[in-house]
Amino acid sequence: MIVGAGFAGYECARTLSKQAKGAAEIVLINSHDYFLYVPLLPEVAAGILEPRRIAVSLTGTLPGVRLVLGQAHDVDLDARRVAYTDPEDRERSMAYDRLVLTVGSVNKLLPIPGVAEHAHGFRGMAEALYLRDHITRQIELAGVAEDEAERAARTTFVVVGAGYTGTEVAAHGVLFTDALARQNAGLRDGPRPRWLLLDIADRLLPELDERLSRAADRVLRARGVDVRTGTSVKEATSDGALLDDGEFINSRTLVWCVGVRPDPLVDSMGLPTDKGRLCVDEYLGVPGRPEVFACGDAAAVPDLTRPGQVTPMTAQHAHRQGKVAAHNVAASCGQGTPRAYEHHDLGFMVDLGGVQAAANPLHIPLSGPLAAAVTRGYHLMAMPGNRIRVAADWILDAVLPRYGVHLGLVGPWSVPLDTESPEVARTPGGKPGSA
Ligand SMILES: Cc1cc2nc3c(=O)[nH]c(=O)nc-3n(C[C@H](O)[C@H](O)[C@H](O)COP(=O)(O)OP(=O)(O)OC[C@H]3O[C@@H](n4cnc5c(N)ncnc54)[C@H](O)[C@@H]3O)c2cc1C
Repeated sequence: MIVGAGFAGYECARTLSKQAKGAAEIVLINSHDYFLYVPLLPEVAAGILEPRRIAVSLTGTLPGVRLVLGQAHDVDLDARRVAYTDPEDRERSMAYDRLVLTVGSVNKLLPIPGVAEHAHGFRGMAEALYLRDHITRQIELAGVAEDEAERAARTTFVVVGAGYTGTEVAAHGVLFTDALARQNAGLRDGPRPRWLLLDIADRLLPELDERLSRAADRVLRARGVDVRTGTSVKEATSDGALLDDGEFINSRTLVWCVGVRPDPLVDSMGLPTDKGRLCVDEYLGVPGRPEVFACGDAAAVPDLTRPGQVTPMTAQHAHRQGKVAAHNVAASCGQGTPRAYEHHDLGFMVDLGGVQAAANPLHIPLSGPLAAAVTRGYHLMAMPGNRIRVAADWILDAVLPRYGVHLGLVGPWSVPLDTESPEVARTPGGKPGSA
């Protein structure tokens, strides 16, 4: 049984089903029926990709795997059972022989007044759809606002956290709002929409190579993004954000990209954790529980290339760990021998929209159109499906004007920042994702 069909869980299920060739029952529990290619989420929020392009069908691409839709909420390690709530709010449980926990991560919260109420995260599809609609609506409302201050607030967008998520959201966002404003009779001649990108660190992309930071900084500033390093938010209200330097930014949009924390299911298991991630050995096994494995963002996997450290929370690691976990599950059933997880970082790619990116594949620094081409090529290769659909949307976006319509299907109350399941929209009176 694999719980969580993200980068780690999907690859684990795929590899196991290829190895088992029908000799084992492989069950994948996930809160929704698709694998979400998270790195392209900012392109959904910016109206470049239609949402289903980055949602790869689990049943369509994993024929040897039984998909169980549900939100797991309890793991009974002694009874070897996982309890979950299905999409119609029914309580269910299922037994396992081997368990692989790959539940990923959720938005990280900081104890800052007003943030949980007024900011929105950027971790799942529902949040990306909310942001796309919200941005479109703010531009449309600004276009008819008679009050200058209201118009300025509606066309001011604040992103907190300049890691790869926040940087990509701001880089794509400014191009999106420029395109929407150009099409809007009330804004065409007015000042451009304004984007602010804040980070407490002294540079953009603080966790990546400095050369990527410099390239991203150049692109964002050239687009007019107000990049403020060494700055954070002291308080958020419905009217905007109070910065720690005392300035108040009037805005109706606060996007919270300060990072992620492991899924709370991990904490509920009562096993040793490291910064909330489940402790595992280099074989991705949970010490003392030979039938339980964990990997991806949810697990603290020893990084054999950097002794004493754990592997970072990236898709690059999660995907490869999923494959190793599958081999080791098979080995625990007598097929093959266990492998230790060891992977040297291959660099990172930050898609900045337009024809810009900052990347260092194999640690070769690239920027500009070449980096953008390499980044898009990499994403196409890395996606387990929907490649032609994604490429078709990219071609359409290159030749047609960006268009803004807000369908309004995801309201602000559907995507609270403080949620255990950012990947699913809340429905009235129900648990996340219930029908
Ligand atoms: C906007 C954005 C851009 C990113 N870009 C990059 C990038 O370019 N390169 C890179 O290397 N990394 C990138 N990352 C990080 C990367 O997406 C994560 O490290 C990766 O998704 C972790 O994989 P995972 O399998 O551990 O978890 P996830 O991919 O998060 O998958 C977890 C799965 O478990 C499911 N789940 C969670 N809880 C439960 C439960 N209780 N019951 C059932 N199912 C559950 C979730 O619905 C989800 O399907 C990005 C992240 C974000 C947010």
